[in-house]
Amino acid sequence: MAAREHGFAPLVFRLHGGAPQVIREVLLERGWEEYDEQKQEEGDWNLYWRTSAFRNSDYENILPWQRLNHHPKMIHITRKDCLTRHLRRMKSAHGAASYDFSPAAFTLPNEYTKFLAAYVRNRTAGKPRYWICKPVDLSRGRGIFLFDNIKDLTYDSPVIIQRYISNPLLISGYKFDLRIYVCVKSFSPLIIYMHQEGLVRFATEKYNLVSLDNVYAHLTNTSINKFGLCYTADKERVGRGCKWTMNKFRSFLHNQGVNELLLWRKISNIVILTLLTAAPSVPSSPNCLELLGFDILIDTSFKPWLLEVNYSPALSLDCPADVTVKKGLINDIIDLMNYRMIDGFRQKGDIRRYMRSCTGSHYILTKIPPAFLLSKTSSAQRRWQKVCAKRKNITFPSIKTTISSRHKQTRIHHYQMSDVSHDDEEINVEVESDDCELTTLRRVRQSSSNVASTVCKLPALYINHKSPTVRYNRPSQDRSIPPSRVGDFILTFPFNEVTWNASRDDVGVKSVVHEIQKLTSRLASSFSGKERTNMDQRVAVRDRFEALLWGPKNPPLLSECCALKSQ
Ligand code: ADP
Repeated sequence: MAAREHGFAPLVFRLHGGAPQVIREVLLERGWEEYDEQKQEEGDWNLYWRTSAFRNSDYENILPWQRLNHHPKMIHITRKDCLTRHLRRMKSAHGAASYDFSPAAFTLPNEYTKFLAAYVRNRTAGKPRYWICKPVDLSRGRGIFLFDNIKDLTYDSPVIIQRYISNPLLISGYKFDLRIYVCVKSFSPLIIYMHQEGLVRFATEKYNLVSLDNVYAHLTNTSINKFGLCYTADKERVGRGCKWTMNKFRSFLHNQGVNELLLWRKISNIVILTLLTAAPSVPSSPNCLELLGFDILIDTSFKPWLLEVNYSPALSLDCPADVTVKKGLINDIIDLMNYRMIDGFRQKGDIRRYMRSCTGSHYILTKIPPAFLLSKTSSAQRRWQKVCAKRKNITFPSIKTTISSRHKQTRIHHYQMSDVSHDDEEINVEVESDDCELTTLRRVRQSSSNVASTVCKLPALYINHKSPTVRYNRPSQDRSIPPSRVGDFILTFPFNEVTWNASRDDVGVKSVVHEIQKLTSRLASSFSGKERTNMDQRVAVRDRFEALLWGPKNPPLLSECCALKSQ
């Protein structure tokens, strides 16, 4: 193993049954090893990947070198009825103008009367009269059907009835939607990345509103269309199969002369505004990261609609587009997880060897287990105490470092996985907090600064794999601001100083919504040329950030987009 040759233990992944094979493939290619329950100790792994949710105890017992691929409580946005309820609440709190991206929906049986009223209203007003019925807890198109007459509505489990977007943008007569991959690196502070690549999923029969029961014309799920008669046929422009990469879609829009920049911005807004609905209720879990699949439908007026948010989006490799998109995606996710050399020192032998190779006699605890800091006498705290007792020369932080208030937790999370510095050279705990409880750590660091600097120098982690493309915010090189790109992941939130401040402590939803509105209207007027963007505005957009516009192949700076017409 290359990692061993370099004198440190390879990183170890643990897959729960049903986890996608591509995860195993990518990690093995990167020189990782698979966890073996029989041979390895319980905590001797770095990444635990599950398709289903983790138990509370998994979060409580997490150790500093470990990462989980789910945040807790994601059901708030990934179950259809919960998403509907939360979006409706945000709409009434922050205005229909911002939250107008999801089709009107009702959860049945509870909201049958409300649905009936809307149904009758639409019929009498001559508004679009098509509806789609979806079981709340199923996926992959299972149990979905369309109707225009209420007498065709039947259900035997909770469902949502959603207004059917009956004017989708078509390519050569085929309906499609976009699968956008979103990574929530942290909920507190809220840090969102969107992947440049993604999938365009086509229906395999031509769209028409005459045959509402033709799932191959109305649903874009691959799990359905791969069984359609036309799946393998070479369809006009679409080609064989039912998927394009996002890259191909962008070229298509470009060739059609579409100015798609505003479309990408609107999709980014949907992602941010949707995640804002969940952010306050997701407990802070610094060593976790969530990959979500946002399904977006574009209508004929280029308005993007959110159809749903997928938990554990499918990572199976069914066609060449899947291979291109998903392998790159997984590699970039691993880069976003920000593993460092120190994460390889899980075992007593390794850490001792590493310690001996460093000069000096006193070493600083490089990472504090999150659960240790978050609860008074958690089992993680006890386990970590044991680890420290066994491993001499590691400073165990005083029990006084236990922090309880949410405010303090937020600050501390900077020192753990949510520290997105991607700087493998520095592994020491950065103490910038003025929390008195942390001064113990600060003193340790200061009093042994020479040793610390020796310990901090580590070789690059990426041995079998290219280093991630990390773009720092150049104006200030401010390391507290997340990098604006990691591989093909583009930092989508926060995108400026105001949203960065609002994302910390308790997310200031109001100010975020306001900033999004401001930015979008500035972009819209830039593109339409109605208003010249002046210098002050450009500076206001940039702040200390080098925010990029998600979407285009070579993403321009947001500040440049706002200035398009002023040059
Ligand atoms: P599932 O979780 O079962 O995939 P979705 O909500 O994603 O459920 O719906 C499946 C497919 O149905 C979508 O990919 C899309 O093609 C179509 N669809 C869903 N909702 C709508 C809607 N409101 N308007 C138009 N098409 C829709």
